[in-house]
Amino acid sequence: MKTNIQIIALKKVISLVEKVFATKNVKRDIDIQAEIMKAAAIDYSSMTPEEIKKELRKAFCDDHTGKMHGIWSISTSCLANTRCLARMLNGESICAHCFSASMNGQYDALRVKLLRNTFLLNTVDLTPDMVPEIRVKSKMFRFESFGDLLSPLQVKNYFTIAEKANERGVICALWTKNPDIIDKAIKQYGLVKPTNLQIIQSTLKVNDAPASVEYEFIDKVFTVYDPEFIEENGVNINCGARDCSTCRRCYTAHDGIEYISEKLK
Ligand code: SF4
Ligand code: SF4
Repeated sequence: MKTNIQIIALKKVISLVEKVFATKNVKRDIDIQAEIMKAAAIDYSSMTPEEIKKELRKAFCDDHTGKMHGIWSISTSCLANTRCLARMLNGESICAHCFSASMNGQYDALRVKLLRNTFLLNTVDLTPDMVPEIRVKSKMFRFESFGDLLSPLQVKNYFTIAEKANERGVICALWTKNPDIIDKAIKQYGLVKPTNLQIIQSTLKVNDAPASVEYEFIDKVFTVYDPEFIEENGVNINCGARDCSTCRRCYTAHDGIEYISEKLK
């Protein structure tokens, strides 16, 4: 049974996602409202820990190509995240260029999987026995390559998955534009950041890295720059861009805040 708050949040998601689809002129015939409602209707509370574990294993992505080849990840949907959707509609935000929104438009299976992941990670309080083995050869696991944090529970669940990954010497990295949700989760649940987790704050606007960060749990700041700004300001582009498993910068602990810069694609 959904609470009133969940119903209100779903209504907000649906009104925003429809605006995004209209504004971004999505050409394909996708019934996004029906897909969101279907994902939201899955009743995880009636599943056993073993069944949840199977669902979570299906939520992992272990077949990335391109830059993330060889790395495992888990992500939620930007199309079910009110902050992502609001930022996509804000021309000043880097999210106006969201590559994930276009990927969601192109690939049906990916879109459905990310929607399911959103409701799994934001409604189930994972215990360590619900987390499958993370046997990734590169020893690298990414949280969020297609969406962002939505609730403190999602943060708690990522910390639980990271702890499990640590048993196999896997380093995790979480990308977010919503560090306030991590702060809230740490306070709400009394969490301790796993030692194998790097937290990367993504800058909200192009060319706009903050001089400092608000939260001590942030390890790195990731900023995208446009070519003109790079040339005019001599920005050092230090994102390896082609292959994360060779570069590893985002997954490697650094003594202090590290600034990572990528060229706008
Ligand atoms: S936070 Fe990331 S996934 Fe969400 S809209 Fe922005 S670029 Fe897209
Ligand atoms: S800096 Fe390296 S690890 Fe980080 S996103 Fe770029 S290529 Fe990947």
